[in-house]
Amino acid sequence: VAEYDQGLAKSRTGFAARLNRFLANFRAVDEDFFEDLEEMLIEADVGFETAMQISEQLREEVKLQNAKSKKQIGQVIVEKMVDIYGEAGEQEDNSLHLSENTDPTVYLFVGVNGAGKTTTIGKLAARYHQAGQKVLLAAGDTFRAGAIEQLAEWARRTNTDVVTSKAGADPASVVFEAVKKAKAEHYDILLVDTAGRLQNNVNLMNELAKIKRVIVRELPSAPQEVLLVLDASTGQNALNQAKQFSQTTDVTGLILTKLDGSSKGGIVIAIRNELHLPVKLVGLGEKVTDLQDFDAAKFVYGLFK
Ligand code: GDP
Repeated sequence: VAEYDQGLAKSRTGFAARLNRFLANFRAVDEDFFEDLEEMLIEADVGFETAMQISEQLREEVKLQNAKSKKQIGQVIVEKMVDIYGEAGEQEDNSLHLSENTDPTVYLFVGVNGAGKTTTIGKLAARYHQAGQKVLLAAGDTFRAGAIEQLAEWARRTNTDVVTSKAGADPASVVFEAVKKAKAEHYDILLVDTAGRLQNNVNLMNELAKIKRVIVRELPSAPQEVLLVLDASTGQNALNQAKQFSQTTDVTGLILTKLDGSSKGGIVIAIRNELHLPVKLVGLGEKVTDLQDFDAAKFVYGLFK
């Protein structure tokens, strides 16, 4: 929890600072107040819909509680955000699903270059290895030699195994080799890296579909998760990427990285509310331990603390 807190420090400063600046200008609860509030929330990247939702509910609540002071108003805003996000959070399944038989569990990681796929795979490899699991990585991003080497380096650092190929090889063939190895040598978990070129949707879609086919052919109930990795510090861009990816692939959950560097933590709320995809993990730094399970209520409270 302390690490979660530390990692969120920047998001929090950004969000809380915005809210405080907003409240510093507070004069009265009038139409201007609600308009300014909506603008503040949109700038903090909670998304248009959520901003309107909070504003609407705040109108009601202010009437009910007869809230007039700055402090009361500030409290109601935080409460409403926790309500909206907490409620959504209760219904969503944040857990990473596991294979239900003795076959290896397979997670496929998708997302644009630089989002943090390889780093997240490295962090998860360490987590599973430490828990005593037999972990295999697949370097499915064959597009860049750097990506293959980076994943191999994570395998060395975490004492896990990796299947690689030469740069330019067919990603599906690397994944095929990895799945075969995982099955034959009884690995518990296989983490598959992929290339993230969004410039050409059709190619990306075909490539991801092919990779999935290869996995399913060998392991009918895999992949248990298709995890879309998004760089939270890119704000609305992350939301747009999430929309595009979820249209081309059956994404089962989101991983939001670089929340340590973001002053726009509201994006987590926007993505959740607009796409109805559960956030499963958050990245809070570059170190191997900077990966946390996502807890919605804790996250929203953390933004304002
Ligand atoms: P990929 O292209 O999607 O595989 O992205 P990488 O894993 O190579 O990550 C791109 C850069 O982001 C690297 O410099 C990582 O160290 C950095 N990075 C990844 N996750 C995080 C995070 O949670 N916080 C911070 N600050 N940096 C991160």
